[in-house]
This record gives sequence, C-alpha cells and structure tokens, in this order.
Amino acid sequence: MGLSQTKRQSILVQFVRGIYTLEAAKSKEKPMGSTEMSVNSIMLPEHYEERGTLDLKKDKKSGFAIQLVFISIVVLMVVLARWFEFPIHSTWSTAVSILATVGMAIAYIMVHELTHGIAIRYFSGVRADYFFRFPFVCTGSKAFFNKASFISIALAPVVLWGIVLIMLLLVLSPDYFLSMYILIGLNFAGAAGDYVQAYAISKLPSSALIQDDGKQSRVFLAR
Ligand SMILES: [Zn+2]
Repeated sequence: MGLSQTKRQSILVQFVRGIYTLEAAKSKEKPMGSTEMSVNSIMLPEHYEERGTLDLKKDKKSGFAIQLVFISIVVLMVVLARWFEFPIHSTWSTAVSILATVGMAIAYIMVHELTHGIAIRYFSGVRADYFFRFPFVCTGSKAFFNKASFISIALAPVVLWGIVLIMLLLVLSPDYFLSMYILIGLNFAGAAGDYVQAYAISKLPSSALIQDDGKQSRVFLAR
C-alpha cells in the first residue's frame, strides 16, 4: 500500500542482500571447522588429525552399557508379552517354529548389515566393506563421515526394520507372531551396540570426522 511495485521490489532486493552479507560475515568470523558440521569425504582433509579410537568390544564402559541396554530390552519385551498376553501359540510344530525363527534371524542379521552398507554408500558414494568376525557380520568403510551421517548410518537398520517388522507383526497370521516377536526383540536389543556407538559419537565436537572399518572407530578433529 502506498509503495510502487518497483519501490517494493528494490526494498526486497536490499533486504535479501542484507541477509547474504550478514551470513557471509558470520561465516568469516567462524574459525575453520569449530562449530560447523564437516563434510563427508573419501580423503581425510589436510587440517585434520587423529584424536582417538573407539572400540566397543574392547572398551569396558561401552561393553557394559551395551550389555545393560541389551538385557533391559529383552526383559521389557518378555514383560510386555506376558502383560498383554500376546498370542504366542502357533499351529506350527516346535521344530518348524525353531527352524523358521532361526532362518529369519539369520536373514535379519544379513539385512541389518546390508542396511548399514546401503546407508554408507548413500552418504559416501563408495561401496561398504563386509566381512565375517565370527559369529558376527561386520560392515565398515574407509570413508570419513561427519557426526550426522555417522549417527544416521548407525541407526538406519534399527529404525527401518523396527517399523517394517512391527507392521508385519500386525498383518501376518498369528502363526508368525512368536517368530516375528523374537525378530523384533533381535532388532531392538541386537542394536544395543549401534545405540551406544551413536551416543558416543553424538558427544564429539561438531567438526569431527569419523572412520569406522567395522572393527573400531577412529575419530579425527580439525587442528
Ligand atoms: Zn547394526
């Protein structure tokens, strides 16, 4: 009202320019990599150096946390099953039930690791490495990930398969209930290591880059 079209446009242009200049000034003030999230990379940027490693299997505190989380989830699932009187009876014979559950559990473990691998590929553009570390399958990569990507890779399988398995539990015939329920337990309790790893990484400074070869995580920070 009261302003001509061109006048309004020029005010808008000035306003947008103002924001840009302000943003540019802010980003110049920030020292390299101190508060901004770093970018995923195949090569370690020159100004980064290794600051430590995290081996969940060797570190006693994380090992204890993983066991505690695992047991708590198993106990919770057993309590829920009893509380809600879930239909755990099947028309299948015991042998068929056991075979079906073991088969599905093995398939689940493969698919869980594959999901980490697909997330690694998505965030790095490079194929993940898979290997056996009996009795586990491990997934790793040589790429360097920022915190957000690393946490997404760690939690992708438990979130995705948690949703899929709960939906299957609701739609499949009651014959599958116990097997599906055990699989859901495996999904949420078996990811204890993934939660603890995601938690440990979330405590790092935002400029951190993390490389995980499937055995241990190496943490790099800007110099
Ligand atoms: Zn996992």
